[in-house]
Amino acid sequence: MESIKLSTGEEFPLEMHKVRIVQKIELKPIDRRFAAMQEAGNNTFLLRNRDIFLDMLSDSGVNAMSDRQMAAMMVADDSYAGGESFFRLESVLQRVFKMKYFLPAHQGRACEHLLSRVLVKPGSIVPMNVHFTTTKAHIGLQGGTVLEIPADEAFNIASKEPFKGNIDIDKLKKAFAEHGKNIPFVRIEAGGNLLGGQPVSLANIKETSALCKKNGVPLMIDASLLQDNLYFIKVREAACKDKTVLEICNEVAACADIIYFSARKLGSARGGGICLNNDALYEQLKPLVPLFEGFLTYGGMSVKEIEAIAVGIEESMDMDMISQGPSFIRFMVDELVKAGVPVVTPAGGLGCHLDAKAFLPHVKQAEFQAASLAAALFIISGVRGMERGTVSEERNPDGSEHFSAIELVRLALPRRVFTMSQVKFVTDRVIWLFKNKDLVGGLKWRKEPNILRFFFGELDAVGGWQEKLVKKFKQDFGTGL
Ligand SMILES: *Cc1c(COP(=O)(O)O)cnc(C)c1O
Repeated sequence: MESIKLSTGEEFPLEMHKVRIVQKIELKPIDRRFAAMQEAGNNTFLLRNRDIFLDMLSDSGVNAMSDRQMAAMMVADDSYAGGESFFRLESVLQRVFKMKYFLPAHQGRACEHLLSRVLVKPGSIVPMNVHFTTTKAHIGLQGGTVLEIPADEAFNIASKEPFKGNIDIDKLKKAFAEHGKNIPFVRIEAGGNLLGGQPVSLANIKETSALCKKNGVPLMIDASLLQDNLYFIKVREAACKDKTVLEICNEVAACADIIYFSARKLGSARGGGICLNNDALYEQLKPLVPLFEGFLTYGGMSVKEIEAIAVGIEESMDMDMISQGPSFIRFMVDELVKAGVPVVTPAGGLGCHLDAKAFLPHVKQAEFQAASLAAALFIISGVRGMERGTVSEERNPDGSEHFSAIELVRLALPRRVFTMSQVKFVTDRVIWLFKNKDLVGGLKWRKEPNILRFFFGELDAVGGWQEKLVKKFKQDFGTGL
């Protein structure tokens, strides 16, 4: 539920589910958290789960599943070809997207691989509101280039714009004029992951679709974060407030020629798929599924997961279900803003994003503000976030550091996983850290791999700031927890 008001006047979002399976987690003492962070080279990707209290690294594959999803997994139809599980998922997708064809794939990036193989050629230019890491990589592998054209407001960290994920229509017109035939499709990511889960409005999707039709170019929608985006359209877009979630979903889908999704997010399970209407394109994509994924009726997914996705997507048409993530994130963002902590606003889907440049203005970007903040937060709270800044970039061809335009620490809120008291705990510790921010210093490379350094790289604290931070924490909290 969006929010409930207590008799004291306090308001917060209320869980519209009860917890029936639990996993024990432990809040290790700060000395252990500090040691674990050293072992992990101050890289939160290298931590082990047993040292983590609240894992806010990602929402991928870690949303909570419902009892109905678990029950459906027990009746999955395990056959190599023609299994009923596939047809159950296909019929749910037909109801929400109303498209003729469904091709399964093992996860979102596998859909991107197949689609790029068929649609992208050397010299192709693909305009989009925002890229995702795997999308850009697959388009690049086929010799294409991503043309990112979000509205200017997308890069304004503290904003009131309700749809920061919108594509810039004027820039899209210009792209059509300049690149014409080299544009194989336009892509809209709804919502924009790397923008901080910021949504796209239905009006913007409709305008983009009309422009694509006029130019004879298909519109592709990446629906991985669609459940949050549907929620934002309903609560932020006046024209849609009386529509049901299913109606909004149908309208979004009617704008697209191709929809693909990661079911590690949409559908709260693990898998993916492509939906489309075009007969010729379907015939081109079809043979690639058994070649790279698995037979046409499972596409590399376990049939149990296929059943869980079917139920999960059906459940995503329910406001109680899809409001949980965004309303918890909004609560956290509001509390942090009240305390003066710099965060990305307005609150989006996916998670709460701390603005590390403004949080740690005294730390040089060359000493990795976002990575330093992520390390400091883990040490003082056991909360694992993800660095989205310079460490996540690659060096320039001349070997110099490529500084990221923004330095963020993402605190993902996998859907229906964390309780309100856990959210309050994280919020409190972030505020404490902000009050003690002068104790946080920078990092320098200990071991820097050539590729995917953000996954495997290890760093050391510059100077003894982490020991001082631990000491201050113990003074303030006594217990070491
Ligand atoms: C996660 C994600 C993907 C990739 O999906 P995987 O299942 O992780 O391969 C693609 N697009 C968006 C917007 C995503 O959030």
